[in-house]
Amino acid sequence: MSGFELVPFWLWVVLATVLGLILGSFANVCIARMPQRESVSFPPSNCPKCHTPIKAVDNIPVLSWVLLGGKCRACSEPISIKYPVVETATGLLMAATVLKFGPTVEAVLHMVLMPPLVIITVIDIEHQIIPDRITLPGILYGLAAGSYLHGWFDTVVGFVAGGGSFLLLAEVYLRTRGVQGMGGGDIKYIAAAGAFLGWQQVLVVIFGGSLLGALFGALGMSVKKIKFLTRIPFGPFLVLATLISIFYGKEMISLYLELAGVKQ
Ligand SMILES: [Zn+2]
Repeated sequence: MSGFELVPFWLWVVLATVLGLILGSFANVCIARMPQRESVSFPPSNCPKCHTPIKAVDNIPVLSWVLLGGKCRACSEPISIKYPVVETATGLLMAATVLKFGPTVEAVLHMVLMPPLVIITVIDIEHQIIPDRITLPGILYGLAAGSYLHGWFDTVVGFVAGGGSFLLLAEVYLRTRGVQGMGGGDIKYIAAAGAFLGWQQVLVVIFGGSLLGALFGALGMSVKKIKFLTRIPFGPFLVLATLISIFYGKEMISLYLELAGVKQ
């Protein structure tokens, strides 16, 4: 009997959700400060409008936002619904990870990814960048955790296949069209994802992310909301494809192999 089994399963899910809400609150700090290259640990959270420090009681994830009616206690400036949405999303992703992997080391290694994935999504939508402060440690983490999960060979091949293919695509795009189609952040992201997921799953992420991005772009152009060649951030689609790969990747690969007749 492992130590994990001493605690009932539902309690693990609750603990993961609460941890996710708290880390989601920290994710909000990162989302607000990382694009400005500010410290995420100092100064303590304060209202963006009046700069009054936020009291601990007003800093409870989701709940404080609801109790305050979405307004700063000091100056009544509206607080974006983005804050509770980020916290809820992180909480739900953490819970889903425990539901998927059970109370295991594998679950913990995947849970570590969830706050950074949420941060990357929001920062890329708002600023069209994926910060090095997330992707560079992410590459080291991906190499270490990936080696533990599927051995160093799959990890190194995933890192090279992911980062290398995007680097090549970016170079080809730049030379043929004269504009930058893919940012350095996307390249570092897919290198980190490749290391963590291994080479089979990173292919799912590359195809899935490109497909989702292309569908969104086509939809956007058809409703004429997005002008052609306007830079649509690729990060959110890569993150979505990464999540699909984490939660359904193995099933998708075996289905593909079955359809292709490789495996009965
Ligand atoms: Zn205020």
